[in-house]
Amino acid sequence: MASERRFFVGGNWKMNGTKKSVDEIIAFLTKEPLPADIDVVVSPPALYVPYVRDKLPKGIGVAAQNCYKETKGAFTGEISAEMIKDVGAEWVILGHSERRHKFGETDELIGEKVGHALNSGLKVIACIGELLSEREAGKTEEVIFKQMKFIADHVGGNWSSVVIAYEPVWAIGTGKTATPEQAQQVHVQLREWLKKNVSVDVAIQTRILYGGSVNAGNAADLGRQGDVDGFLVGGASLKPDFVTIIKAGHA
Ligand code: PEP
Repeated sequence: MASERRFFVGGNWKMNGTKKSVDEIIAFLTKEPLPADIDVVVSPPALYVPYVRDKLPKGIGVAAQNCYKETKGAFTGEISAEMIKDVGAEWVILGHSERRHKFGETDELIGEKVGHALNSGLKVIACIGELLSEREAGKTEEVIFKQMKFIADHVGGNWSSVVIAYEPVWAIGTGKTATPEQAQQVHVQLREWLKKNVSVDVAIQTRILYGGSVNAGNAADLGRQGDVDGFLVGGASLKPDFVTIIKAGHA
């Protein structure tokens, strides 16, 4: 990890949790102080966001897993960025591959959501990543650059409120992690893209996380790559291993 970018570890709980298991996660996250130089953000299901925000110390950020592109209105089942802010959470994950591929969210909609969330004062973990078929067809760059463009077009001057999560879809929830070299290679390409299409400063300062079956065993090797600035962790963020993964930022 480059020293000028603070290591960032996000935990995406997905649609998991009960009042009891949420309390267990809060207990292992607060058992001992987490490293002060690492940003940690957890993302419970929306119903638990206010509870988790109230229980965790302010040093740990809380993210919703999604939100809509409007402030309020006739959008049954949706939540707004303004509501997330209203209950005290600071972040939202947008463009997660499960939203893209299980719920049909388009690049265009994700871009609009990113713009609205940022303009509402939320910080955004913006996810991108290619399918296995796209990687095998040699289309990784084309796919992720297109996803980046739809996001970047809506960020405006808010880049300091954005982290990018590169999550190859074939690695999410599959136990099949990208090698540190594969992750580093794509992160370098993304940083180059930012340099060419946004600015040198944004390319240097924006955190690019890796996500896809990160666990306590592989986190340190991944985190040592110069352009891997942290992780977005799914399954392993529900377990005490998450604390080991956070500490991998010091490996
Ligand atoms: C995720 O949900 O963003 C993710 C990377 O999941 P997992 O760590 O379980 O692969």
